[in-house]
Amino acid sequence: MAGPSHRRNSVGVDIGGIVVGGGHPIVVQSMTNTDTADIEATFRQVAALARAGSELVRITVDRDEAAAAVPHIRDRLDRAGITVPLIGDFHYIGHKLLTDHPACAEALAKYRINPGNVGFKAKRDTQFATLIELAMRWNKPVRIGVNWGSLDEELLTRLMDENAQSANPVTAAAVQREAIIQSAIGSAERAEELGLGRDRIILSTKVSDVQHLIAVYQDLAARCDYALHLGLTEAGMGTKGVVASSAALGILLQQGIGDTVRISLTPEPGGDRTTEVRVAQELLQTMGFRQFIPVVAACPGCGRTTSSTFQTLAKEIQDHLSASMPEWKERYPGVEAMSVAVMGCIVNGPGESKHANIGISLPGTGETPAAPVFVDGKKVATLRGADVADQFKQMVADYIEKNYGKS
Ligand code: SF4
Repeated sequence: MAGPSHRRNSVGVDIGGIVVGGGHPIVVQSMTNTDTADIEATFRQVAALARAGSELVRITVDRDEAAAAVPHIRDRLDRAGITVPLIGDFHYIGHKLLTDHPACAEALAKYRINPGNVGFKAKRDTQFATLIELAMRWNKPVRIGVNWGSLDEELLTRLMDENAQSANPVTAAAVQREAIIQSAIGSAERAEELGLGRDRIILSTKVSDVQHLIAVYQDLAARCDYALHLGLTEAGMGTKGVVASSAALGILLQQGIGDTVRISLTPEPGGDRTTEVRVAQELLQTMGFRQFIPVVAACPGCGRTTSSTFQTLAKEIQDHLSASMPEWKERYPGVEAMSVAVMGCIVNGPGESKHANIGISLPGTGETPAAPVFVDGKKVATLRGADVADQFKQMVADYIEKNYGKS
């Protein structure tokens, strides 16, 4: 399955060995929600996110204790063999924290700067300049991340006034989008004037409304060639966050816009932070941009499905493949991802199984209690008994080992 043939041209940015933009594969990233000053908790969450497939992980650096912890977190990760680059998220006092904590400045692979709160009005320009000079000193890229929740009020007020006096005024939402874009591009141009290379700058312009996000990124993408970080901010909890993020990012990605994605889900209480990584991977895989794991096709089930064996098996196969397979394209360049079919009855089961590399059709209501298995389009076995699921999982493992080497 191929992704859209056209991707917007952008300048590639190397973040600790992971290149964002410049035609490289779209990068999955995520962010911790631990107190960064808690070294152990942050180390554990970064490790979990990296193991789930996050290729960059951002951590909050909001005070001296957090900045002091960063090199220790990096050290713990290195000792555990986890190479994922860490990004520091700075607001208000980033210039001070990076100045006072050189080990933090060195340990981070990128600095995220919010131009809307880089300093209080009178000192904004000098503090922004200090941040850019620190990025140059430590040879680090930056993300200039504008967020409409912390937009530069002065800029917004000026554009609102200009719009009010215009002969052809536009909507307040359009003015707000323009302010977001001007803040991002203006800050990036200022960073370049200060000497930071174009290949050291990533932009993002996050809003929480799907239609506004699409409009703002379409405009931003047309007006510059900086690498772009996509994300719907405050996407929300559960299915709402998944659907809103997928709708917004899916449309932009289809238009060739976006070099790295973060799905900002609010975790359920006690929920798993790595869900946002899996959603990002599934979005990119569904759209044909990347292939992280083999594809499992499962029918939705219906009144013909006899038992929970079918759903359980589909989930177990998906989980097994997710956990055991590395990103497909890196391990098997040029090889189409393996497909596995898990079907609930003979109506569509054998047909779908024949299209997959390996597929099983479990017996539906009133059918003979037997499960035909197809490998590469040919029926090779009919499984019976209470352990059909285990038998099929073994066949999948054997297929992977025979065709691709040990998983
Ligand atoms: Fe229902 Fe069978 Fe279709 Fe699955 S394949 S949805 S069990 S009819």
